[in-house]
Amino acid sequence: MRILFISSEVAPFSKTGGLGDVAGALPRALALRGHQVRVVTPLYRSVPRATLQLFGSPVTLHFPFGDVEVRSYRAVGDVETVFVDAPAAFDRDAFYGFGDDARRFAVLSLAALAFAQRDGFAADVVHGNDWQSAPALLALRTGYAHTALGRARRVFTIHNLAFQGMFPKRELEALGIPWSLFTVDGVEFYDQLSYMKTALVCADVLTTVSPSYAKEIQTPGFGVGLDGLLRHRSADLHGILNGVDAREWNPATDVFLPRTFTATEPSGRARCRSELIASCRIDPPVDGMPLFGIIGRMTGQKGADLLQAALPRLLEQGASAIVLGAGDPALEHAWRQLDARYPRRLAVRVGFDESLAHRIEAGSDFFLMPSRFEPCGLNQMYSLLYGAVPVVHAVGGLKDTVVDLSQPEGNGVIFDVPTPEAMFGALVRCVELFRDPARYLAVQRRGMNSDFGWGRAAAAYEQLYRGPPSP
Ligand code: ADP
Repeated sequence: MRILFISSEVAPFSKTGGLGDVAGALPRALALRGHQVRVVTPLYRSVPRATLQLFGSPVTLHFPFGDVEVRSYRAVGDVETVFVDAPAAFDRDAFYGFGDDARRFAVLSLAALAFAQRDGFAADVVHGNDWQSAPALLALRTGYAHTALGRARRVFTIHNLAFQGMFPKRELEALGIPWSLFTVDGVEFYDQLSYMKTALVCADVLTTVSPSYAKEIQTPGFGVGLDGLLRHRSADLHGILNGVDAREWNPATDVFLPRTFTATEPSGRARCRSELIASCRIDPPVDGMPLFGIIGRMTGQKGADLLQAALPRLLEQGASAIVLGAGDPALEHAWRQLDARYPRRLAVRVGFDESLAHRIEAGSDFFLMPSRFEPCGLNQMYSLLYGAVPVVHAVGGLKDTVVDLSQPEGNGVIFDVPTPEAMFGALVRCVELFRDPARYLAVQRRGMNSDFGWGRAAAAYEQLYRGPPSP
């Protein structure tokens, strides 16, 4: 099949979170199964230009807000990655969060279709990801309806329902979306234009990144106002767990680590732990207490408040912890304050640091991820593979990947309610486990032997691309 894959981030070129990782790995896994995949993504200012080549003639997109001339660059590896060069839209210091995001990602979406048409890329499937791809799915049902591309199967993946792409309704006119679509069955959401809803309405097949999240988003507690629509489309909604890109995340080959290691030969891990502690300039935990690692965007989603409430008691008893992340200034500030209170026990690094992320997974005894909701979560999978026993709230993809140590196949610690007390209870269970080295090693070993290859997910997407078997 020919698959046109549209994503607003693609690792290693651009990444703020899990979407970038998925867009960097899933297309390749599909290509390895024999499909022809083209990934289309913005040429942001931060994308390294050195290996990219200009190709094709420029295309002019006509919007009521103005014409936009776009050029295409590409990088060719296992899959073809096409970069949309529209400097007014993408030559900026961040990916998202601008007043004209509706227009910027309409440019991405419409350029993806225009380039496909220009190049004779006759897609069987157009696979959009998150709200940034919604205008493409809409265009396939409107302007492109009677073209060859209009016959492509429209697949849409929700990587995080909490980011919805909501815009003032006046943007409809700027984008050329007819007012007749501004209805409860269409693109309207609480009197605004919702790109997320647009995609949910326009796609033939909906997917999200774990089976549990697929169920949760059909309930008011997790549906962010779209649960009714998702229940309505329940038959078309599938949960496919993300994989892990073994080229990037494998402790046996990881270039960021001072020593590599494997489940059967884990001795290098001790060196990773001691170097991590030294490089973060904290004291090692006292005897019998563990080193905790935490990585992730600092937002309400990730449960930083639970950690900030529960962790100090453990630090006072001689545990140590390393925190890496950036995001909400109030949460960053709260972490920095804790850091100042426990300078020898806690290291807080605010920023994005790929190398440190790898070294935390390889050196921590436990990895803490108490998300309030979690579509899939990649870090808990990395920590399983790297031997940092994960501690998670029982939600979404966390629940689908971590098994509590009370079970025979246990690989981590799970708690059921997102409260500071429950978080603290989970940390106490970590200490108990850590003081029983044979048991700790057994739990750790089970995690390290997990199989999170992308092949399984790619096969599941392939089936959805083909559609239901003919009767
Ligand atoms: P989300 O997509 O919600 O941010 P995931 O756990 O699915 O969460 O994926 C996050 C990805 O981004 C992981 O690859 C993680 O290692 C990485 N990441 C997040 N924050 C940082 C950071 N501050 N420095 C380095 N990597 C980070």
